[in-house]
Amino acid sequence: MTHTLPKTYNFKETEQRIYKMWEENGYFKPINDPNEPGHDPTKKPFVISIPPPNVTGKLHLGHTMFVSMEDLMIRYHRMKGIPTLWVPGTDHAGIATQLQVERALRAEGTSREEIGREEFLRRTWEWKREHGSMITEQIRRLGASCDWSRERFTLDEGLSKAVREAFVRLYEKGLIYRGPRLINWSPGLKTAVSDLEVEYHEEQGTLYYFKYRIAGTEDAYIPVATTRPETILGDTAVAVHPEDERYQKFIGKKAVVPILGRKIPVIADEYVDREFGTGALKITPGHDPNDYEIGARHNLEIISILDKEARINASGGPYEGLDRFDARKKLWEDMRAAGLVIKEEPYIHQVPRSQRGGEIIEPMISTQWFVKIKPLAEPAIAAVREGRIRIIPRRFEKVYFNWMENIRDWCISRQLWWGHRIPAWHCADCGEYTVTREDPTECAHCGSPNIEQDPDVLDTWFSSGLWPFSTLGWPEETPDYRYFYPTTMMETGYDILFFWVSRMIMMGLEFTGKEPFREIYLHGLIRDEHGKKMSKSYGNVIDPLIVMDELGTDALRFTMLVGSTPGNDMSLSVKKVEGNRNFANKLWNAGRFVIAEIGGLGNRETGKPEPQSANLPATNSPDWTLADSWIWARLQVLVRNVERLFGNHQYGEAGRQIYEFFWGDFADWYLEIAKRQLAEGGERARITADTLVRVLDTSLRLLHPFTPFVTEELWGHLRTAVLDSPLSGLAKTWPEALIIAPWPKPRPEENWERAKTTDFALIQEMVRAIRNLRAEKSIKPSQRIPAVIAAGEKAAMIEAQKSTLAALARLDGAQVSIREQMEARPEGHVALVIGPVEIFLPLADLVDPAEERARLKKELAEAEAQIARLEKLLASPFAEKAPSHVVQGERDRLAGYQQTAEKLRQQLKELVG
Ligand SMILES: [Zn+2]
Repeated sequence: MTHTLPKTYNFKETEQRIYKMWEENGYFKPINDPNEPGHDPTKKPFVISIPPPNVTGKLHLGHTMFVSMEDLMIRYHRMKGIPTLWVPGTDHAGIATQLQVERALRAEGTSREEIGREEFLRRTWEWKREHGSMITEQIRRLGASCDWSRERFTLDEGLSKAVREAFVRLYEKGLIYRGPRLINWSPGLKTAVSDLEVEYHEEQGTLYYFKYRIAGTEDAYIPVATTRPETILGDTAVAVHPEDERYQKFIGKKAVVPILGRKIPVIADEYVDREFGTGALKITPGHDPNDYEIGARHNLEIISILDKEARINASGGPYEGLDRFDARKKLWEDMRAAGLVIKEEPYIHQVPRSQRGGEIIEPMISTQWFVKIKPLAEPAIAAVREGRIRIIPRRFEKVYFNWMENIRDWCISRQLWWGHRIPAWHCADCGEYTVTREDPTECAHCGSPNIEQDPDVLDTWFSSGLWPFSTLGWPEETPDYRYFYPTTMMETGYDILFFWVSRMIMMGLEFTGKEPFREIYLHGLIRDEHGKKMSKSYGNVIDPLIVMDELGTDALRFTMLVGSTPGNDMSLSVKKVEGNRNFANKLWNAGRFVIAEIGGLGNRETGKPEPQSANLPATNSPDWTLADSWIWARLQVLVRNVERLFGNHQYGEAGRQIYEFFWGDFADWYLEIAKRQLAEGGERARITADTLVRVLDTSLRLLHPFTPFVTEELWGHLRTAVLDSPLSGLAKTWPEALIIAPWPKPRPEENWERAKTTDFALIQEMVRAIRNLRAEKSIKPSQRIPAVIAAGEKAAMIEAQKSTLAALARLDGAQVSIREQMEARPEGHVALVIGPVEIFLPLADLVDPAEERARLKKELAEAEAQIARLEKLLASPFAEKAPSHVVQGERDRLAGYQQTAEKLRQQLKELVG
């Protein structure tokens, strides 16, 4: 029976059907499930927890990157027969979700304050039920083979229990406290925000220079500059460097706050940079993080001058009630009138803006809940330092240490409604807090029933910090938690190493006593084709959903995976994706050809199937042609390389090599030769088909983690066709789907491989040289030309490949003469030199002797350049460090070029003579 595939690969029709097939057959679930009988706890699983996307999210390239990369790792391990689990889920994303619902309420003419907390939460859950699965649907489109039966949401009952347990434990240990501290305040959202929610923009501002008058003097002053004059209202000191001769005399004296007239000390602190600006600083501990630290060192008063909407409060005297920017103008005018202004200068500086609302963030003193972070950070630093967790690439370890060693207490409270509400009840009678695992009915300190739960919710990162273990059932000792935790790999962008990854390490060690994962793989960010950051304002954002619609998921995945190296940014263009769409089509066409040929096997010659099962040994067989041996040897090299590269997390390079093999070696060379071998019929055709099947099968397995859809579809057709053919023995052990087919095992190099590869490479170079010359001389493809070949010890080998060579180089087979030696250069011939081989083509009437000399000289120069390069390489430490077979390969190449150069010199001499 003959199987025919559609002419072109229809990804639109295929992707959904294949995904459904995988999911319905349970292939995404781990083997050796600890919840099922027969579980073997000693088998080590491979586990990834997905970085949970925001439930409000719409698929962007960042998601596409991590989903593709993690799916590749998961599929690879699954095919290796390892129990493999990828836990999916979403994050409730406090601010983002709350804003969505607030927007909807505004459209209805109401607000969250108007409908109240309870109704607001009901509405938000409703929103989540309606829209919350959009992002996971889009992740499915990417082919993500997550175990959806284990999907989690950070506000699920189980995860909420984990959050509560974590909070209570930290509180009981004295690691959670409540107090006034400097935090990032969003006046638009009226909540504290994390550093991650603050974006710094380079903006044009003004640097305002003014006089800080010294109290008790006529006209002495210290010049000071600021970008935010309104904060003068909150100044509590002026600081200078202790050794600054200009200002030393003022240290210990008092300065006078402009307009307000408050007297504040002039202090000495080595933090002040004498070279920068005026060399003196105004200190506003209530509204600047650096000043806050200086203030703490000098025990300075802290004055807050802003209210929650960033208007000036009562501390601002005559400016009370003014918006912060109006106050800036008014105060500066008043100071100018008072003769305190020195000058203004344009100034470019970094302005902190709210990621969500866009307004300028104010550092403010606010009473919030904090986690004492040092006791958590220390073991987390040790885990990486002692190699219990590895960061890939290694250079990020330094960044990690630097950040963790300078980490500040973590503000975990947010003035929002959507999130995990802080499990602390305030007592109206004694003022203490009660923090318990179950909701209390009375104060734990005085027994009063007048208690009220804190209105704030926890920072989203508090719950996502528990993600690797809360998703597996912690704090319960579930079978999943016992078997799958600690997880194996944390794969994410380097931009959230601190915000998320470091918190998971700290919380994992604190609550489970174990590192939450063994390895952290950091991928880079995706930039446009010119290396520019993608952003809406540049108009260079690529929408992955549109790309998938137009070019297919596999093409997008392959482009992202092959373009990335650990920790480095990559540039992406739709053109590259188009190139890989062409690769998917190339795969399809090659597969289509092979499948059609298998179908024709049985009846080509005799009309009945070959009797024998075609299970040839998977090593060199005397029945193989040189091309058969060569493609098999090349495939073995590829399998070995891919295994090594995967082991080093060089997934991009592995993908590139598979691509090169398939397109170059297999499709461009072997298929062309195979067509002629198949045409011979009989045993030759059968052996060729056998090789085609084995190479295609292995290639599809290697490619599957990169391009899962097209490989699964093609492999399914291949399997059916093989099972229906005289080669059915080949597919006897194949499972019903590629996703669970065993990963190709690398085999040690066998003795015959190198010789066959070298011989075939010589044939390839001869073909290329003849083709190039034909193109140069504009010889029509239909014109068959004679050739005389002098090949030394390779003569017998080339004689055996004569028909292949003739076919590929379009020589006239009947007029190809191969010998070991030539007495002299034949008259009227053009000569080509490839290592030990000289090819003479009777094209002299097409050739001008001067031109011919120039061509030979150019080739000689190229050969000499290669000789110089290889001699240098082999004299370098490379010769000792590289594996011996690699070094030998380079030596062989050098010898080849030396032979080429020698022959070319000879030819040039003869040409002159
Ligand atoms: Zn009380």
